[in-house]
Amino acid sequence: MSSRTIDVLGTLYLLRNSNVLVVGAGPVGLVLANELARYGLSYRIVEKIPTRSTWSKALMITSRTMSILEDVGLHEEILSKGTVAEGLDFHFNHRPIASVTMNSNTDPTIRYPFPFVLPQPDVEEAFENVLNKRGGKIEREAEVVKVDPLKDYVEVTLETGEVVRAKYVVGCDGAHSFVRHSQPEWKFEGRPVNVLWAQCDGTITDQRVHTARAAGFVGITGSCPPILHS
Ligand SMILES: Cc1cc2nc3c(=O)[nH]c(=O)nc-3n(C[C@H](O)[C@H](O)[C@H](O)COP(=O)(O)OP(=O)(O)OC[C@H]3O[C@@H](n4cnc5c(N)ncnc54)[C@H](O)[C@@H]3O)c2cc1C
Repeated sequence: MSSRTIDVLGTLYLLRNSNVLVVGAGPVGLVLANELARYGLSYRIVEKIPTRSTWSKALMITSRTMSILEDVGLHEEILSKGTVAEGLDFHFNHRPIASVTMNSNTDPTIRYPFPFVLPQPDVEEAFENVLNKRGGKIEREAEVVKVDPLKDYVEVTLETGEVVRAKYVVGCDGAHSFVRHSQPEWKFEGRPVNVLWAQCDGTITDQRVHTARAAGFVGITGSCPPILHS
């Protein structure tokens, strides 16, 4: 057994018989809730928005991530709905400038040699379906508005007025995490990436866009409609 496995089991042992409040039902919160459900631990998962977001956001699932999802039983629906991405073609000012192949099938130990593409809402739906099968349920329209760490538990206030007492609160509430900001002494231990970029959801009808390859469009002005020239 690897030391990492022992760490995870040790942590799960400590969590046993204690209740966990998972804040946020994005991919991270849903993976955590699924793991807690899989190990039979007591938890709740609360989410502020009433329905799943429709934006594609985190849509690339790397082969390593897919292997981890398989280990924790979250891969089947993603495999059945996702699209394999064999590579990525970059275009600058309407001209192709570079191609990257994302195939790693020269290594027989890699179970999924290509990344998969599946929009984040579909990933969340897949994780939620497994959670439901494991007896769990996302509590929607339950925004966390106050977090008070007390001596023996954390007191969390929901926007509904409900006060939840949990042994552990896990902030899975995204990049602007309310949970993290609720405790001024908790610092963001990372660094911002000062790059301006955008992602839009749309349908590309140009026949020359390969369906098994992702395409990146870059322009000097920042605006670059995906019109290709061969
Ligand atoms: C435009 C865009 C494009 C992106 N593209 C990519 C990409 O191509 N690849 C990639 O890997 N990543 C991408 N990302 C980043 C990706 O979306 C995040 O890495 C991913 O969503 C992180 O998942 P998460 O579960 O931590 O957080 P989120 O998906 O942000 O989920 C957090 C959840 O917490 C809920 N929440 C927030 N506050 C509260 C509260 N107080 N109480 C209760 N619930 C709360 C939110 O409603 C949300 O559902 C993109 C992000 C954006 C915005």
